[in-house]
Amino acid sequence: MIDFHCHLDLYPDPNAIVERAESEGIGVLSVTNTPSAWQGTSKLAVSKPTIRTALGLHPQLAKQRKHELRLFDELLTHTEFVGEIGLDGTPPYRPFWQDQLDVLDHILKSCEAAGGKVISAHTRQAVVPFLERLSIYPGAGLAILHWFSGTKGQLTQAIEADCWFSVGPSMLAGAKGRDLVQAMPRSRVLLETDGPFAQLHGAPLSPWDVTLAIRPLADAWQMEPDGALAQLTLNEQVLKTSARALNPGRAVGR
Ligand code: MN
Repeated sequence: MIDFHCHLDLYPDPNAIVERAESEGIGVLSVTNTPSAWQGTSKLAVSKPTIRTALGLHPQLAKQRKHELRLFDELLTHTEFVGEIGLDGTPPYRPFWQDQLDVLDHILKSCEAAGGKVISAHTRQAVVPFLERLSIYPGAGLAILHWFSGTKGQLTQAIEADCWFSVGPSMLAGAKGRDLVQAMPRSRVLLETDGPFAQLHGAPLSPWDVTLAIRPLADAWQMEPDGALAQLTLNEQVLKTSARALNPGRAVGR
């Protein structure tokens, strides 16, 4: 299994998390919140082929870190994965909306110029504007909307825009999340933890906790956990094939 959205660099002991994830056979899309965090975080993945480090600039940091976009562009040639990026329309971040749009536009344009990337996106209270920006840069790549929390109507729009979705134990612990996941195409669902931010029963999630999402997902899909696991494994393979198609000749992962 792969955790498609985890902040490895933000655990107290990232190396211990990496070692255990590897020993449990859990792959990680290791997202970063700032370009300046990418190099240090990517060192965690040295000689760990199942860990990939994504280059990000979190929308909540758009104003403070927009000066790092130059560094973003310099580093972009080193990775096929981008995240965490996106837009946040909640009240604390609304005052910096224009900064968020400027940063997202820059990033999507750079991704398009680079031939397309696999993108892990934050779209809290911002699904429609995010999809609008994505439509302006159709070559930006393959977007995985992480912890989708919009409306059913917005979900339909995201599906029509060919987005994928990463869902985790925290999202599936709530009725809204379970309702949304039922409306997602099964073939476009991946797992995530969003650890260490996301918690379950008061404890931060770790990459191997993606397995906790299998049972609620199986219930939502009205099948046995083995069936859900098979679907998720297939989805991971399709995603990797799509990622390779974005960047022929480049190793994307096993
Ligand atoms: Mn996150």
